[in-house]
Amino acid sequence: MERHLTKIVATVGPACQSEKTIGELIQAGVNIFRFNFKHNTLDWHDRMIQKVNRVAMHLGARVGTLIDLQGPEIRIKLPKEKILVKKGQIIPFFTITHPQLIPLLKTGQKIIVDDGKFKFVFNKKSRNNFLISESDGFVLNKKTLNIPGLNFPLPVLIDRDFQGLHLAARNQVDYVALSFVRSADDISILRREIKKFKLDTSVIAKIETNMALKNLDKILTVSDGIMVARGDLGVEIPLEEVPYQQKIIIKKCILKGIPVITATQMLESMITAPIPTRAEISDIANATYDLTDAVMLSGETATGKYPVQAVEIMRKTLIFNEKKNLVDSRLRFNFNVEEEYEFLAEAAYGLYRSISQKKRTFAGFIVFTTNGQAIRALARYRPLFPIFAFMSDSRIADQLAASFGVNAIILQEQNLEKAFAFLKKANYLKKGGDIFIILYPTSQKGTRVLGISHIN
Ligand code: ATP
Ligand code: MG
Repeated sequence: MERHLTKIVATVGPACQSEKTIGELIQAGVNIFRFNFKHNTLDWHDRMIQKVNRVAMHLGARVGTLIDLQGPEIRIKLPKEKILVKKGQIIPFFTITHPQLIPLLKTGQKIIVDDGKFKFVFNKKSRNNFLISESDGFVLNKKTLNIPGLNFPLPVLIDRDFQGLHLAARNQVDYVALSFVRSADDISILRREIKKFKLDTSVIAKIETNMALKNLDKILTVSDGIMVARGDLGVEIPLEEVPYQQKIIIKKCILKGIPVITATQMLESMITAPIPTRAEISDIANATYDLTDAVMLSGETATGKYPVQAVEIMRKTLIFNEKKNLVDSRLRFNFNVEEEYEFLAEAAYGLYRSISQKKRTFAGFIVFTTNGQAIRALARYRPLFPIFAFMSDSRIADQLAASFGVNAIILQEQNLEKAFAFLKKANYLKKGGDIFIILYPTSQKGTRVLGISHIN
């Protein structure tokens, strides 16, 4: 099976909750499973996280786990699963996750539900609150609610998020993503809470508010990764601006050397149909031309009819298109090269550019690492061959799951013979021998020596 360099994140839901389907998703190419804590019970997530880890272990596959916290996001709380609304209809205001906001609303305020599918106008009559619907259809419980223009200091985490962090710590989750990040402070507050739970995890900021776009540079300095959460972003800013912001965010993450996940509706039509639209395939392909680290599936795998097919189609689209990025990324980006590991990564990439074109049997990079720094610094150049990252710490290995082209492997000793033996056994070598660029540590301090090696 040909392997993809751009990583695939898949959201876990009822459509893929069996061990069999989880296994098929891993084999189809999923690198990270996402658990959206806004839906379902925490008990369900607890069991599913364990199930995913168990299946991955059985298959001998490395997969990362990511939990998505609700954060300062407003959701509706209906007394039943759905309610029917009609254009022009006046309905009583439903309960929301942050009821303290309701007294702040003024008649005429626009209310947007479910990523823009429903629009309402708020109306206050004596002591009762109403909504006038501007849309038709079934409003589903727990969908998001946006109040454009309302600026109110919502707490960063809700009660359920704290329970979620507790669960994450118990299950050693690799990534924690926060919804509706507004500023770097939100991330710092989350980090403090994570510390209290003694959780060793990467923190991902979901960029989906106007404020987050304004504060992006600062958010990047405190986050381990970024998600371009296009669903709510497309509600908070005009829809037509979303592709442009996607490019800006991805570029900034590449310069910083932190992984970026492009998310929402990538194969939306596959929730109900076995064949995607041309536009959806284009969207995935274009995300690879933007050089995203990872792409994500939401409803497609969580509730869709074709979860495994969606991953297969995504993988094929990635494999074909990601290989077409032949431009030297040093010409495309102005990388900051200051730290020793950054120099090393730059040198390794330069060597790769000069030999990969001439040597047909070039197979990738072998990097021994203790902290993953040199790996991320190399991944930001987006070389078109895998980076085999050998390390002894499985926590660090799993936190590289979102990074472009990185294949993390646990090896107790920093021993080249053993690394080669592993690659041979795992079928990573071509016939007639292979050439690798090797980054090897000579001291405790990190990765230092750069060399080329050939094995048969
Ligand atoms: P976000 O804004 O964080 O993406 P969302 O509500 O859009 O939140 P997604 O993770 O994009 O949710 O998933 C799409 C849909 O799949 C959800 O609206 C929900 O109906 C369903 N879903 C997701 N996870 C679960 C789950 N664990 N159990 C049941 N349904 C789920
Ligand atoms: Mg969504």
